[in-house]
Amino acid sequence: MKSFNFKSAANTREATKMASGRTAFLAGGMTLLPAIKLRLAAYSELINIKEIKGLSGIKISSKSLRIGATTTHATVAASKEVGKSIPSLAVLAEGIGDPQVRNRGTIGGSIANNDPAADYPSACLALNATIHTSKRKIPADKFFKDMFETDLKKGELIETVEFEVPEKSAYAKFPNPASRYAIVGVYVAKLKKEVRVAVTGVESAVFRCTKLEDALSSNFSSSAIDNVNISSKGFNADIHASAEYRAHIIKVMAKKAVSSC
Ligand SMILES: Cc1cc2nc3c(=O)[nH]c(=O)nc-3n(C[C@H](O)[C@H](O)[C@H](O)COP(=O)(O)OP(=O)(O)OC[C@H]3O[C@@H](n4cnc5c(N)ncnc54)[C@H](O)[C@@H]3O)c2cc1C
Repeated sequence: MKSFNFKSAANTREATKMASGRTAFLAGGMTLLPAIKLRLAAYSELINIKEIKGLSGIKISSKSLRIGATTTHATVAASKEVGKSIPSLAVLAEGIGDPQVRNRGTIGGSIANNDPAADYPSACLALNATIHTSKRKIPADKFFKDMFETDLKKGELIETVEFEVPEKSAYAKFPNPASRYAIVGVYVAKLKKEVRVAVTGVESAVFRCTKLEDALSSNFSSSAIDNVNISSKGFNADIHASAEYRAHIIKVMAKKAVSSC
């Protein structure tokens, strides 16, 4: 079904109230609209959340960086605040898709969609993010469930993503040359209390690589990665890369990320 009603919400309360039955929130529309057009999804109503004031914008404090759900990738990439506090996040945003996608796509849409090859989910896991929704606060560790699946309930709206400001961090991506989605993406973050490493593009959903985290916790240097053995068991294999190749590229990207921290 390609026909649907289109409504614009003025605030988050109105948006969540409208969200019952076969409805979906519409942010940048970069995934939702193609899915509807290709008949992979059908809704009776789309609720435009881009007009909601206060749902976009960037706020920085000494400990955290908060990005509003409808903030576009282009805004994050160009933000001085992001560039100063978490430059790796600006690099990640700059590497998403193409200028059209970056000017429409939003951080909230990206993580709600949880594409297995998307970039932002890895930033959320590595930077120990908290997802603030219309109902609750969800730690990133509990948010990303499986392929295109999150902990969000029907009608629950992402309002803000709050990232911990790390001591050091970097994101290295081996991109699909056509879409720029990650064939393998590795986000490394040295936080105050721990080292976190998140990997995207490799399994059905983003995951933390504990072997790399352990190695880097005792020695935060690219040489610490040399002796880590990454098994390819359960990894994606497709026309772009075999599971074994992905396992190899994880180490290459992790070393690249640590070297540029
Ligand atoms: C050609 C192309 C290339 C791309 N390349 C990349 C890439 O390299 N890396 C990458 O990471 N991504 C890539 N993307 C994805 C893109 O970056 C978008 O972030 C993503 O498509 C979804 O964001 P959106 O704002 O467009 O969300 P929409 O398409 O509007 O929505 C997506 C889903 O999220 C839900 N949703 C949206 N906002 C909220 C919210 N605030 N709360 C709850 N649910 C919400 C919607 O209901 C829908 O189910 C690419 C997309 C295209 C079309």
